[in-house]
Amino acid sequence: MTKLVADRTSLIDASGIRKVFALAAELENPINFSIGQPDFDVPEPLKQEAIKAIEGGLNKYSQTAGDKEFKDKIAARVTAEFGWEDPAVLVASGVSGALLLSFLSLINPGDEVIIPDPYFVIYKHVVNLLGGKCVFVDTYPDFKLHVDRIADAITEKTKMIILNSPCNPTGVVYAQDEIEALARVATEKDILVMTDDIYEQFSYDGPPTSIAKHHEKVLVLRGFSKSYAMTGWRLAYVAAPASMRPVVEEMTKIQQYTFVCAPTPFQKAASAALDYDVSDLVRGYSKKRDLLYAGLKDKFELVRPGGAFYAFIKAPNGSGTEFVTRAIKNNVLVIPGNVFSEKDTHFRVSFATTDEKIQQGVEVLRGLA
Ligand code: PMP
Repeated sequence: MTKLVADRTSLIDASGIRKVFALAAELENPINFSIGQPDFDVPEPLKQEAIKAIEGGLNKYSQTAGDKEFKDKIAARVTAEFGWEDPAVLVASGVSGALLLSFLSLINPGDEVIIPDPYFVIYKHVVNLLGGKCVFVDTYPDFKLHVDRIADAITEKTKMIILNSPCNPTGVVYAQDEIEALARVATEKDILVMTDDIYEQFSYDGPPTSIAKHHEKVLVLRGFSKSYAMTGWRLAYVAAPASMRPVVEEMTKIQQYTFVCAPTPFQKAASAALDYDVSDLVRGYSKKRDLLYAGLKDKFELVRPGGAFYAFIKAPNGSGTEFVTRAIKNNVLVIPGNVFSEKDTHFRVSFATTDEKIQQGVEVLRGLA
C-alpha cells in the first residue's frame, strides 16, 4: 500500500511542544507560564463592533484582500508611519496566515531564509515544509540583533531575513542602531526583510523601531491577536511599499485559493481596533514584566524583557528540557528553549497571567534554581 500521508509531513517535528502538553495534561490547576496570549479579554467596544457587524449582516465573504474601508485605513496608517505612497495591503487570517502566504509566494526549494535564533516556531516549520533552508543566526546570550553575524550568513541563495521585534520567545526589542545597521546591510545586498511586528504594542521602554522606515524591500506583518486579545478572531495584515506590490498580489492570489478572505465581521472590529488605545493594558503588562524580572534576576541568568510577554531564561544546570520537566513536576508550566531554538539551554516563561500567579510561579522557580 502506498503511504497515505505526504512525505512533507515528516519535515515538521511537533515533538517538543507535544511533550510539554503531555506532561501538562496530568496537572491540576497548574501555574501556567506557557501561554502565548494576553490574560485580558477583547475590550468591550471592540466586541460590540463585532456583534454589530454580525447583526448587520456582514457575514459573507469580503474581497480577497480585505474590506476596502479597512484596507484604506491600514494604508493611511502605514503611509503616515513609514512615508510610503500608495502602499500594498492585504488583510490576512492572523499573522500565521500571512506568514504562510508570504512563504508560499517567495520560497523556492533551496532558498535560504535567515532567522535569528531563538525564533518563533512557525518560521522554521513552514520554511522547511516548502523545501527552503533555514539559516539560523545565533543571538545568544544577549539576544540582540548581531548584524555582523547576519551579514556573514548572507549568500547568493539568501531569499530573505526575518525579524521579530519585540521577540517571541526572548522579549527582546531591537535597538534603533541595530535596526539601522541591518537596514544598511539589507539595502546594500538588496535583500528582502520580513518583519513580524505582532508584539508591536507590547513594548515597555519606548516604541519599537521598525525596519520599514529604513529599508525599501520590506514586508510588514502586523496582527490583532495579541494587542486586543482576539487570538480566536484571526485578523492580521501585510503592508509593503508600492514597489513590493507584485509580491503582495501573489499573496492575495494564493489567499483566493486557500483562506479566501479573513473573517468578515471581525475585519470591522479590527478596523475599530486601529483607533482603540491599549496603553493602559500595556502598562499593566509592563508591571508584570517588572514583577517577573525582579523575582528571578538574582537566581537565574536572564535578559530583562523589553517587550512581548516572555522571558527566555538560562536553565541552571544546562538543559532546558531537564529543567522544564522539573518545573512541570512542581506544577509550573514552562516551555523548553529547544522549541524555539537549535539549542536546548534555556526555557521560556510567559507572564501573560495574573500578578498572583506570577508571584506563585516565581517562588516555585526560585526553589528550583
Ligand atoms: N508571530 C509571533 C512572533 C507570534 O508569537 C505569534 C503567536 N504566538 C504569531 C506570529 C501568530 O499570531 P496570529 O496568527 O494569532 O496572528
